[in-house]
Amino acid sequence: MYLGGLGRSGTTLLERLLGELPGVVALGEVVHLWERGVLAQELCGCGAAFPACAFWSAVGERAFGGWTTSVAGRVLTLRRRVDRTRRIPRIAHPDLAEYAQAYQMLYTAAGAPVVIDSSKHASLACCLVAAGVDVSIVHVVRDPRAVAHSWGRTVERPEDGHPMTRWSPARTAVHWTAQNAALELLAGRGARVVRVRYEDLVAAPVDTLTGLARRLGLATAELPFIDGSTAWLGPSHTASGNPMRFHVGRVELRRDDAWVSGLAVRDRRAVDLLTWPLRARYGYRSAA
Ligand SMILES: [Zn+2]
Repeated sequence: MYLGGLGRSGTTLLERLLGELPGVVALGEVVHLWERGVLAQELCGCGAAFPACAFWSAVGERAFGGWTTSVAGRVLTLRRRVDRTRRIPRIAHPDLAEYAQAYQMLYTAAGAPVVIDSSKHASLACCLVAAGVDVSIVHVVRDPRAVAHSWGRTVERPEDGHPMTRWSPARTAVHWTAQNAALELLAGRGARVVRVRYEDLVAAPVDTLTGLARRLGLATAELPFIDGSTAWLGPSHTASGNPMRFHVGRVELRRDDAWVSGLAVRDRRAVDLLTWPLRARYGYRSAA
């Protein structure tokens, strides 16, 4: 299962919740594993450094005979050639099969009936689909005003204490449209794409997750880890992603509407303009 959408749209929360389902393993943002996990040896979601995590050591051994700088370097080289947003309309490339195969080997080595890759980028989703990897895409959308407000905030990366990337509201709006349009294009090409809104997930988590599981053909089990608007998360081995990946225990599923008072009127208008008509398609009305 591949979670696609623009960052700060709730993909990490959705991944953690889906990862609590039986037979499902959440891997985090695999697209960043090669550089941040293998090369920079950043922390796994379980709190261990990537090379010290028993889960990832076993996966690396099964998939590639161990994690080496040459495996990571090769995938990063292929990524630069193949996995580009501008290549989406014509994805065919001689290196595509080898690039997608690295992901396929890693997913298989994770050893679960269903694995989740929350890499988000539409371009990687496109590579996997074009190469014939058996993948369902969950397209996560969130109100672009809320996304723009989130990208403007200063957030520290727990991995190294450095601030996360910040974008202006206009830049966020352009990326929001590009990523969502690309994922729409993929659905139009016959890929299995299921769309979910972050706002629906936090407003009705059980119904939304149950509906999602049904549409993805997963066993719609009970969801004992959710009670009303509270969820309990166990440890996970997410290789990279939003700081929320380290959270274990109770989490309140509450819609974050900080943008309503936090986003300047001129920025809100700019985002409204730059995200139309997809914004309307997803049910986010123009702000007054
Ligand atoms: Zn781990």
